[in-house]
Amino acid sequence: MSQVVSSNLGYPRIGEHREWKKALEDFWAGHLEEELFLQKMESLRLEHLQKQKALGIDRIPVNDFTFYDHMLDMSVMFGLVPKRYGYTGGPVSLETYFSMARGNSTAVASEMTKWFNTNYHYIVPELHDMQPKLTENRPLKAYREAKEKLGISGKPVIVGPYTFITLSKGYSRKELPAVILRLLPLYEQILRELQQEGVEWVQIDEPAFVTTLAEEELETIKYLYTRLHEAAPQLNIMLQTYFDAVDWYDELVALPVQGIGLDFVHGREQNAAHVKTHGFPADKVLGLGLVDGRNVWRSDLAEIWQLIQDITRTVDAGRLWLQPSCSLLHVPVTVSNEHGLKDEIRQALAFADEKLTEISTLAQALRHGKDSVAQAFADSEAAIAALCQSPERNRTAIHQAVSAIPSQMTARPLAYEERRAKQQQRWSLPLLPTTTIGSFPQTPGIRQARLKYKKGDWTPEQYNIFIREQIAKWVDIQEEIGLDVLVHGEFERTDMVEFFGEKLGGFAFTQLGWVQSYGSRCVKPPIIYGDVAFLEPMTVAESAYAQSLTDKPVKGMLTGPVTILNWSFVRDDISREQVCYQIALALRKEVEALEAAGIQMIQVDEPALREGLPLKKADWQGYLDWAVESFRLATSSVQDTTQIHTHMCYCEFHDFIDVISKLDADVISIETSRSHGELVEAFEAETYDKGIGLGVYDIHSPRIPAVEEIVQIMEQSLAVLDPGQFWINPDCGLKTRGIEETIPSLKNMVEATHIVRNRLLQNDV
Ligand code: GLN
Ligand code: ZN
Repeated sequence: MSQVVSSNLGYPRIGEHREWKKALEDFWAGHLEEELFLQKMESLRLEHLQKQKALGIDRIPVNDFTFYDHMLDMSVMFGLVPKRYGYTGGPVSLETYFSMARGNSTAVASEMTKWFNTNYHYIVPELHDMQPKLTENRPLKAYREAKEKLGISGKPVIVGPYTFITLSKGYSRKELPAVILRLLPLYEQILRELQQEGVEWVQIDEPAFVTTLAEEELETIKYLYTRLHEAAPQLNIMLQTYFDAVDWYDELVALPVQGIGLDFVHGREQNAAHVKTHGFPADKVLGLGLVDGRNVWRSDLAEIWQLIQDITRTVDAGRLWLQPSCSLLHVPVTVSNEHGLKDEIRQALAFADEKLTEISTLAQALRHGKDSVAQAFADSEAAIAALCQSPERNRTAIHQAVSAIPSQMTARPLAYEERRAKQQQRWSLPLLPTTTIGSFPQTPGIRQARLKYKKGDWTPEQYNIFIREQIAKWVDIQEEIGLDVLVHGEFERTDMVEFFGEKLGGFAFTQLGWVQSYGSRCVKPPIIYGDVAFLEPMTVAESAYAQSLTDKPVKGMLTGPVTILNWSFVRDDISREQVCYQIALALRKEVEALEAAGIQMIQVDEPALREGLPLKKADWQGYLDWAVESFRLATSSVQDTTQIHTHMCYCEFHDFIDVISKLDADVISIETSRSHGELVEAFEAETYDKGIGLGVYDIHSPRIPAVEEIVQIMEQSLAVLDPGQFWINPDCGLKTRGIEETIPSLKNMVEATHIVRNRLLQNDV
């Protein structure tokens, strides 16, 4: 009788101490020779395989490792290298590979975008005028390496054709059949070669299956998988879906593959119901994604055990693979190096390695009975209970406040139109007021100062004096440039979420809890483990100090509740909605404290609001309802004359203007300089009546925009927007820019504004 299998879908690349990042960056900087770089990467890759083996995983993924991004690996494998990199065929060199990822002196980098609803970014494949060709069989190479060097028969992982093609750009809908016909033979060849090598299983990832698909797309998928099966009938395909449930379960499980992997964390109810009521084909293996690959919490083993029991009524254990819900790429490597956390938090955490241990524990329980792993079950229960009983999770006042939020707490007393009249009077700003998004350059000097303070070389007073000097210097600079609404510059903040997390109750910070965001860039998200509590004012001192130095209004600067939520790892014992309201309530107190201290223009940034959208359109409204409500909860207690601003960093507005309007912020600034035309179009079609700052230059580039250029952009927008609504600002914060670019750029922006302002005023008379 066959036995249950433990399996993994993908392992983090970055290493326990981000060795991967260091090797990459040393190589790019020319401090590491290619040969040594390749050696380092190989040893990391092999170490990761060995670790998974030692943790008791039967089906270990290979080809999940990459030098940058797994989608880029696929493009390069197919020879899909855009013309601008001068590639002439054959194997793609490391130099070309990294040029695609990062650009070079003559060619810009390929576009990068979010991998579904995660914070991981992939390089978007470009398909126009391409003749794809298999440049090398990467999964085969990875398989051979594991086999020869470690004796491990790995499970090669590739991104499936449907997901790969739908995430690519550079073709129109009607070219889709042609694109498929060009790419399919390459997939077939890969699989044929794997079969010939004697590979048992290949994992084909199709996360795009969980999005909302049309009937004809199912036909395409059936065609694709029939062809793949026919190409290598002896090779077993584990068709892996994740991040949610697939809505067309019956068609999915009927595809000609040998295994179907489902996410039982994010699509749990739907998937469990499907298996129970529709059954599962007797000739297939079921991949059970049981352990959360997207969050950092220890699993409730008893609860998962129950789920497994239910499933085994339909599918016998010998046909089950126990797995994480998705690749472990989205969680940090191991809890074992964390020494600064309180016991009850540390014990309740599970990163990649601990999650794999959970998988093997569950497999063991199925093989030898639950009693054989009784201790592990008891530990899991105790750890979860301890955290649940911690005082930080039992702040009753907060629970009560969140459970009954009266509607008047989420609406400003006066409608926008009436507030607007009062605010005009209160602020008497010129036509087309100029401002910035909040941060000014974080120079090496500022970073060093922060480090000295963190290490204890500087006292809080010394650091404070330094920050005040920066604020004073930049208030002067802003006055000299002639901006109308000033900011304090955010010099005291490393990161817009971490800064608030450190000052609010309920957040914890790891030492090494890094996850890859894009390329070598890693982020260390805060962990929201308890009830979020306002402890003391967080931004008042800096803003009020800046205000004391000038007669111009200083805009206070906060990160919004939805962004704090979306950029953190969030507790999973209560809903995200509840946590978001908790954050909003805390921020509401900060808004009130700012207002009381005389800061009566307050910007609440929500750059991550859009990226929290669920994968299925049907779930959008539910999310947007509480996201918008949270923002309003944070911002609506102020006086009529207090002006609430918000900022977002996107350009896709066509389907979003309505949401933005519901936030009921008096002014929004949005990132549009790279897609100005589109935005203008959006406003032609829809009406928007509140203040709006359309970014007039791109802060992501070091280029200083010319006055004429800015004038032009402004005039385009003025063609569709009432000048009385319009604010002038760069398209995002300036913290990544140098001082040398920032000052002249802002001067040009102000000069352009004067030109347009004068034209408007003259036309009026
Ligand atoms: N206030 C922030 C800043 O200027 C906003 C950044 C953002 O939205 N990404 O840096
Ligand atoms: Zn921005």
